[in-house]
Amino acid sequence: MSLDSMLGAVLDRCAAEGVTVVLVGGKLIIAGEQTALDEWRPLLRSLKPELIEMMTRTTAGTQRRATAFTARGVEAGAAYALARRLDVRDARHDERRLCLECVHFLGTTDACRCAQWRQARLGGPQLPRELPVILQRCRAFQPADLDRAPAPIPPAPRRTYARPATYFEGATQ
Ligand code: SF4
Repeated sequence: MSLDSMLGAVLDRCAAEGVTVVLVGGKLIIAGEQTALDEWRPLLRSLKPELIEMMTRTTAGTQRRATAFTARGVEAGAAYALARRLDVRDARHDERRLCLECVHFLGTTDACRCAQWRQARLGGPQLPRELPVILQRCRAFQPADLDRAPAPIPPAPRRTYARPATYFEGATQ
């Protein structure tokens, strides 16, 4: 297990037990319920230089993802938490991805579609509301450029009906 992976696992456990670890102005700030803090503080203190180094390295990337997820309809706080989860995912070399990271994701979480739903083996273009924020393996996934605005859902094609070109004798008009 790499150092990043081990640190990611520690942050994951902290988050699961309600201990928040954030980097503010280069300082490590921990917050949470007192009992959980008392339990985790010694380990976090012993890992402080490594945590600061890793979090400094990943903060810009985390912020970039959080901004992209916000643009795709995720509430700001949830977007940052999701971006942090992806830091842990990457540190663990987990190959699962979010629809929110995919170039085929259209719209926002309020109304979203998959442009490759057949290849993704979905029943239709409409994505289930909870799917975009669930880590999954998708055969049609292709990474999106997160610095670009999300692609909108294209308007439904207008139905046109062909008019008969020939009028038959006896037909009423
Ligand atoms: S191709 Fe897969 S990962 Fe991409 S939006 Fe569709 S279902 Fe999600």
